[in-house]
Amino acid sequence: MDEVVSLCKRRGFVFQSSEIYNGFSGFFDYGPLGAELKRNIKDRWWREFVQGRSDVVGLDASIISSPKVWEASGHVEQFTDPMVDCRETKLRFRADQLFYSPVKMEGGGDVLCHVCVQEDSEDNMAAAAKAQAKKILKKAGTPLGQNAKLDPFQFKDLTQAEEEELAVIPSPASLLPTLTAPRDFNLMFETSVGAAADASAAAYLRPETAQAIFVNFKNAQSTGRMKVPFGVAQVGKAFRNEVTPRNFIFRSREFEQMEIEYFIPPGDDVWQPFHEEWLASAKKFLLGIGLREDLMGLDVHAPGGLAHYARACTDITFRFPFGVSELMGVAARGSYDLEQHAKASGKSMEYFDDETKTKYVPHVIEPSLGVDRLFLALICSAYAEDEVGGEKRNYLRFHPSVAPVKASVLPLLKNKPELVEVAAKLHEELKKRWNVEYDAAGAVGRRYRRADEIGTPFCITVDFDTLEDKCVTIRDRDTTEQRRVPLDEVAAVLQKEIDG
Ligand code: ATP
Repeated sequence: MDEVVSLCKRRGFVFQSSEIYNGFSGFFDYGPLGAELKRNIKDRWWREFVQGRSDVVGLDASIISSPKVWEASGHVEQFTDPMVDCRETKLRFRADQLFYSPVKMEGGGDVLCHVCVQEDSEDNMAAAAKAQAKKILKKAGTPLGQNAKLDPFQFKDLTQAEEEELAVIPSPASLLPTLTAPRDFNLMFETSVGAAADASAAAYLRPETAQAIFVNFKNAQSTGRMKVPFGVAQVGKAFRNEVTPRNFIFRSREFEQMEIEYFIPPGDDVWQPFHEEWLASAKKFLLGIGLREDLMGLDVHAPGGLAHYARACTDITFRFPFGVSELMGVAARGSYDLEQHAKASGKSMEYFDDETKTKYVPHVIEPSLGVDRLFLALICSAYAEDEVGGEKRNYLRFHPSVAPVKASVLPLLKNKPELVEVAAKLHEELKKRWNVEYDAAGAVGRRYRRADEIGTPFCITVDFDTLEDKCVTIRDRDTTEQRRVPLDEVAAVLQKEIDG
C-alpha cells in the first residue's frame, strides 16, 4: 500500500490535504493527473448509466438540505459507529475495530490495554489480531490468566489450538481501564445555516447522495416523464466524520459517490431480476474501464445482517493491497425511504401506473459506488511491471477511456522546425478533444518511458518520413508495438481506442 500512496504523490495523482501544514486527517487533494482520472471515471459512469440509457435521468442536488431530510431518513438517529475514547491518549477509536495488548503498569506487572490497530478488511484484522495475540502471549506468558482474555470478535480465523491458547475478554471496556465504554457516534458533519445561533440553524453536510434522489422522486419522475421502472442518478460529494479514516482514499471524510435509485414496482418477486441486472451492469462497467477481474469478488450479505427494510445487498469487492474490501454495494431497499419521506413531509410519494391502473409507492434498487474507492482500485489494477529491451519498466496500464493523458505527441527532434510545426499542429488539434501532452525533451525512448509511467496509452511520433508520407507512428503502451497512421486519421484512431 505504501508503494501505491507514494506513486500517487510522486506522479501527481493524490496529495495529502493541507500538506504544508502536515496534513489534515481524512482529507485528500487530487493533483493534475488525479483530477483527470477522477473526471474520466465520473464522465464514463454518467455516459454509461445516464446518457446511454433512456430509463435513467440525472440529478445534481445541493449538498446541504433541510435537516428534516436526515431526520426522516433515520440518519440523525442511526447513522452512527460505536466509539471509545482512550483516557490516556485522548484518541478515539471505532469500538468494533480495536485490538488489545498488555502494557507495563507502574510498580510492575502487565495489564491489558488497547493497541491502536485498526484494519478495514477481515483478512487483515485476523492477521493483525493473530500477531498481536502472539505478542501478548509472549510478553505475559501463557496462559494469560483467568480473566485476562482476548475478544473473540477479533480472532475469527484462529486455529483451535490457538483459540485454546487464548482466553476471552467478556467485555473489553470493563477490563481496560484506559478506555471509555463504547458509545454511538454520529458520522454526519454538522454545520449551521444563516445567522441564528441556536439549534434552529443546525444542518448537516450530506453523508450520501441518495437521499436527495428520494426527496426529488416526484420532481424527477414528472419532469422527465418517466415511467416505472426508471432510475435517477447522481454524482457528488458526501461527507462522513469517520472515527478513523484509513487506508488512504479508501476511507476518507470527504469523498464522492455515484449513486442510482432505480424505482421498480412493489412485490415480493419483482425486485430480484432487477437486482441481478444492476449487479451485472455494474460489473460490466467496472470491467469496461479496466478493473482487474481477478481482483474482484462478490459479498452477498446474509439476511440477518441487513437493515430491517432491505431485501438484499450484494457488495462488489476488490482485493486492495490491504485486503479484500467493499468497492460498491447493490442494495434492494424496498420502499422504506420514500415511505419515510411521505410520512415526514405529508406529501404523497405514490406513482400512478398507467398500464395496470394502480397506485403504489415504488421500491428501489440502489447501486452505490464510491469514486475515490474506484480510483484506488483502478490505480491498483493498472500498476504493472515488465521488461522492455532488457530493462525493467514500471508503468500504469490504464484503459484509454480513463487514462489521465490520452496521448503524447513527440517530434523526433526538437531542433527541427519542420517536425516541431507538424507535431505542434497535431497536438493543438487533439487537445481540443482530450488531455494530450506534447513532449520534445530528451531521447524518444526516455519520452516513451515518461508516458508509460503515468499510463499514457499512446505516443505519437512525428519523424522525417512524416514530411513525405503525411503519416505518424503510434506506439501502444502495453505491447510497445508501433503502427503507421495517416495524420488525418489519428483523431479517429484514438477515438476508437478511447471508446473501447
Ligand atoms: P463501509 O462499510 O466501507 O463504511 P458503507 O457500507 O458504509 O461502507 P455505503 O454507505 O453503502 O458504504 O456507501 C456506498 C459507497 O460509498 C461505498 O461502497 C464506498 O464505495 C463509498 N464510501 C462510503 N464511505 C466512504 C468513505 N468514508 N470514503 C470513501 N468512500 C466511501
